[in-house]
Amino acid sequence: TNDSKSTSKNKVVAVVGGGLVGALNACYFAKRGFQVEVFESREDIREAKIVKGRSINLALSHRGRQALKQVGMEDTIVSKGIPMHSRMIHSLNGTQSPIPYGKKGQYILSVDRANLNKELLSAAETYSTTKLNFAHKLLNWSTETGAMTFLRADGAKEEIQADLIVGCDGAFSAIRKQFLRQSRFNFSQTYIPHGYLELTMPPINGEFAMKPNYLHIWPRNTFMMIALPNLDKTFTCTLFMPFDEFENVTTGDQVIEFFQKYFPDTIPLIGADALKRDYFRLPAQAMVSVKCSPYHLSDKCVLMGDAAHAVVPFYGQGMNAGFEDCLVFNEIMDQLNEDFSAVLPEYTRVRVPDDHAIADLAMYNYVEVTFTRIRYHEAVKRWHWQDKVINQGLLCVAASVVGGSYLLVRYPPNMPNISIEQLWTRLQALKSPF
Ligand code: FAD
Repeated sequence: TNDSKSTSKNKVVAVVGGGLVGALNACYFAKRGFQVEVFESREDIREAKIVKGRSINLALSHRGRQALKQVGMEDTIVSKGIPMHSRMIHSLNGTQSPIPYGKKGQYILSVDRANLNKELLSAAETYSTTKLNFAHKLLNWSTETGAMTFLRADGAKEEIQADLIVGCDGAFSAIRKQFLRQSRFNFSQTYIPHGYLELTMPPINGEFAMKPNYLHIWPRNTFMMIALPNLDKTFTCTLFMPFDEFENVTTGDQVIEFFQKYFPDTIPLIGADALKRDYFRLPAQAMVSVKCSPYHLSDKCVLMGDAAHAVVPFYGQGMNAGFEDCLVFNEIMDQLNEDFSAVLPEYTRVRVPDDHAIADLAMYNYVEVTFTRIRYHEAVKRWHWQDKVINQGLLCVAASVVGGSYLLVRYPPNMPNISIEQLWTRLQALKSPF
């Protein structure tokens, strides 16, 4: 058991959502000595045979690692991650060009989402003050009384009170619904025209089919594929493409035709039969960007992670930003002596500009941010500066490949259509960081 030295902590913190951010947050609150109750709608993923998740693996970078470190989880997670020192750009003719992340020795890590979630849940459980309640789906909560109503797996409803509710229930947060009824609450939700689907590249003769310590990227105009390595020597390939394009590919033969045209080098590596089959295993998934403010409701409730700010994945920062939310909240708890009535507004004041900035950055790009903890809105300022430089007579980039990430290209009205490869070359010539 990993108990805190903290004393007078009879307060109950309800963490709603036991995903990545909820599980980490449970560790933070438990470490401070609170009574922590985690409520997760799914069954315990540590026991479930099939874990449905959003992406199989994720890029963990500096911000996320710092947040893990504070609760003693950095080493455990890093030891099960695969370092990616560079991006590896695959051009149409099969040439591969590495582009390092930041300075020599800097890297991001490919981590398994399900394992990360399991490790964090188990870490939270090492505190005797933590209780994990699975198969508890939040239906509603009252802003007047703070009472939360949960639906259990047996169909029964359960009402629960807590001193603080921490909404970590993801992009479609049920906790956030009550915020929408408040005056002066700002909210926006935007779906992008792209969807994504995941494919597995198996090992060849027991070895990785491609160089493992890279984030492989196949930039192809308005769509792209990326591949991140896994510990079992597979790669998870994620194809990002406008839904319109997905709809044009409806048969196995069309899949092969499509891959022949855009990703020919991957056909023998994924395998033609597997490709034909796996492409249709799940429909392409949508991607949403959610921004809101404030993140708190009186001294009762606070939103963190995707519940507060879902970002599109092209910057590889969604989870990292959510992890940093926990770290920042913890710092403010120190500064303001755990007084929720002061901590919650301060958290909104400090965190909203940074999380809004990361949502914008996810649409744009600035690779250096991946390796620092400079505040996100500072990074946006730098990006605006960079944008000015890039715009001097050349082109305008709306979003592009980064940490785990990719590109949509917006052309100024008079620009001829150029390929991503050309764009890449020009940006390299400009010494762009991405
Ligand atoms: P979630 O992971 O969504 O967890 C929310 C939890 O709440 C879930 O367990 C859910 O079951 C539970 N829940 C939902 N509703 C209720 C309810 N009513 N009652 C109780 N429980 C509930 N980020 C990165 O940093 N790096 C990457 O490389 C990266 N790649 C990505 C690739 C893709 C394709 C996508 C889609 C996202 C990627 N992200 C990445 C973003 C990352 O997945 C999210 O930011 C992260 O999962 C957010 O964690 P969360 O805990 O806030 O939300």
